[in-house]
Amino acid sequence: MEEKRVKIRIVLVPVPAQGHITPMMQLGKALHLKGFSITVIQTQHNRVSSSKDFPDFQFLTIPDSLPDSDIKKLGTIQFLIKLNQFCEATFKHCLGQLLQEQGNDDDNIACVVYDEYIHFSKAAAKAFQIPTVVFSTINATAFVCRSVLAKVNEDQFLIDMKDPEVQDKVFQGLHPLRYKDLPTSAFGPLESVLKLYSETVNTGTASAVIINSASCLESSSLAWLQQELQVPVYPIGPLHIAITAPSSLLEEDRSCIEWLNNQKPSSVIYISLGSLALIKTKDMLEMAQGLSNSNQPFLWVIRPGSIPASEWTESLPEEFDKLVSERGYIVKWAPQMEVLKHPAVGGFWSHCGWNSTLESLGEGVPMICRPFSGDQRVNARYLENVWRIGVQLEGKLEKGIVERAVKRLIVDEEGAEMRKRAIDLKEKLETSARSGGSSCSSLDDFVNPLKTKNSL
Ligand code: UDP
Repeated sequence: MEEKRVKIRIVLVPVPAQGHITPMMQLGKALHLKGFSITVIQTQHNRVSSSKDFPDFQFLTIPDSLPDSDIKKLGTIQFLIKLNQFCEATFKHCLGQLLQEQGNDDDNIACVVYDEYIHFSKAAAKAFQIPTVVFSTINATAFVCRSVLAKVNEDQFLIDMKDPEVQDKVFQGLHPLRYKDLPTSAFGPLESVLKLYSETVNTGTASAVIINSASCLESSSLAWLQQELQVPVYPIGPLHIAITAPSSLLEEDRSCIEWLNNQKPSSVIYISLGSLALIKTKDMLEMAQGLSNSNQPFLWVIRPGSIPASEWTESLPEEFDKLVSERGYIVKWAPQMEVLKHPAVGGFWSHCGWNSTLESLGEGVPMICRPFSGDQRVNARYLENVWRIGVQLEGKLEKGIVERAVKRLIVDEEGAEMRKRAIDLKEKLETSARSGGSSCSSLDDFVNPLKTKNSL
């Protein structure tokens, strides 16, 4: 008699934001390649389409009761807090239906992997006795920071953070991070941030934590987490090195690749501030002046809605067009990974989101770091101070500072040294993603118990 094959399913629950969807879909692809069936349970907001890129995945949608206008008004932190409140019941209903439809015999759910900011899935998984796994889409060091911050004396910390003299001091136990580098987001009031952190670091009944990072990047932070969290911690990143899982929510303008094809090797500075950051008109002008004065070609992603009170660039003065027309190329959204791979790109001016940081590290491209909020400041500090492949722009943005930073990175010997270190790190990351490498082995360590015993 033919033996019935039992499929093992993993349920993924992403945060509905580009920087979280991208690594979650990469993880889905990696797990699918290991033989698992994948179900993605997502909210209505920022849905990934079940396009040609994920033909074998099952996508289920739960209502989030949050109109798009509310999301803009709420800000990221309040949005996440509300999302967690609204979705607990709808997620439970959805998971219950999934279990009923699939029956228990030939399609087992091995675990629910949820983004660390989406703890609404914990209760339902527990009710159905399904193991949960936390997926951290930021770096291990920022996770350590959150754990430390979740335990600080809130009143004292709020006072300290307002004191300009304290800002430049190294935070005890988190060297080389200073107070001002801590991931105390600009997305919402500090009190709400601390509340959210205490939820995210509470891994509760989770069986494991997986992190999109590698031990060659942050071994001591990973060791700290391994000791502190008391569940296995698996650094399996950067996932994009081994996995292609296109999941862009915005349309990519590929004309910039043609433009790059006509530029000299390592001459272009690529500028992108990610999917959420907002930038003032005044800063846009200082950037444009500095870039123009640097005499280097530049490719600039200006995301629609990223300049407050403007659909796109229409609120910028005519002067802006003049400054960018000679050496610049502007797009609304770029195929970033392809751009960073391009030989013409010599540097990346970034807000230092963790995905952008990993993508730059993965291509050996040094960076100009201008973080806005949250973990971006941690990444910027590490890029400049620990990995030494970045120049951080702190304080007021001025054209002279911009011009100097571009020249340091693209023209000066200092930039060439940074590029060498970046390429060295790229090679280490590639080794870790290859068979036998630390991240590749870590992924195997995570999935093997699921395959053999169908449990963690
Ligand atoms: N990205 C892109 N095209 C762009 C700008 C960004 O594809 O023009 C992608 C980028 O490759 C990265 C993601 O958007 O994977 C941004 O994530 P990140 O963590 O860097 O920042 P966030 O958007 O979360 O602030």
